[in-house]
Amino acid sequence: MTEATVVVRPVFRSYKQRFVRACAEHVRAGGHAVVFETDERAYLVLPPIDADDPHDLGFWSILDLGKQRWTTETEGPLKGLSTTRVPRGCLDLVKKRATRDSEFTTSTRKMKLDCLECGACCRDNHVILEPEDYTRFAEHGRPELGKPPFTKRFDGKVVFKLAKDKACQHLCSDNKCDIYAMRPNACSTFPMASECCLYAREEELGIVDGVRVES
Ligand code: SF4
Ligand code: SF4
Repeated sequence: MTEATVVVRPVFRSYKQRFVRACAEHVRAGGHAVVFETDERAYLVLPPIDADDPHDLGFWSILDLGKQRWTTETEGPLKGLSTTRVPRGCLDLVKKRATRDSEFTTSTRKMKLDCLECGACCRDNHVILEPEDYTRFAEHGRPELGKPPFTKRFDGKVVFKLAKDKACQHLCSDNKCDIYAMRPNACSTFPMASECCLYAREEELGIVDGVRVES
């Protein structure tokens, strides 16, 4: 057995526009939310995004919608909070997030996660390599990791090539990373319990939720 980590993550709630003040209260207490203006128009409401923090769960909540931009509200009940429009194709996704978290009455919740028992985010992914990664590979005596056949081009970027079963080539059978000490930034900054983490677990392992921890 490996050690699980207890993490605190935002509870995701859904509101109608007329309840935007309750939404603001939930988000100020650490939650994440979607506000539906109509059945077809919605926006995310998140705590102020810290663009310098790669572990900011609000930012990862935006990334999970395929977006990278947000607005800081300057007036009204949401003043100071971050918002971003939900793409039409993601409306069902955000509804599912709210259903998933509906059993939680608080704004944040605890989860127990064990990456070694999971490994979901090391499968069917696109690990984009950054300049620092090449330097780290060279410092560890493995400069070949930054070149084919370990890499390929995807969408104009250099990414790690996957094995035939769509797992990362560096993922071992016990879910350990074979190059852990020199793993790319994209891997070391991927935050547990982010929407992207939960999405990977659901897609790859069919786990819709983490293990609830009573506080
Ligand atoms: S999906 Fe989440 S819990 Fe699973 S290995 Fe990745 S970070 Fe860890
Ligand atoms: S390099 Fe390691 S941490 Fe990154 S995806 Fe591959 S196995 Fe996972």
